Amino acid sequence: MMSNLVPVDNDVTHIPCPQCGGEGRVEYERPVVDYERGGYLEGYYDECDECGGFGEVELDPDRDCVVDEYGNLYWKDEPRF
Ligand SMILES: [Zn+2]
Repeated sequence: MMSNLVPVDNDVTHIPCPQCGGEGRVEYERPVVDYERGGYLEGYYDECDECGGFGEVELDPDRDCVVDEYGNLYWKDEPRF
């Protein structure tokens, strides 16, 4: 059933980056050598490699949308707008 799907507006070409949530930066972890405590993971922020820091990625119908028999696009998950 398509009844509860939300159509994608025609002018939507980009969506907020699913990796960083639109921030353009995400937290990564890197190992830090610490001979006294045995080392640990340090959190740090860097440019999101999914969107290259833009905070948006191009809409990919195969990934993000459901297409009906007329070629209309619907959000696969909850609408993001
Ligand atoms: Zn991103």
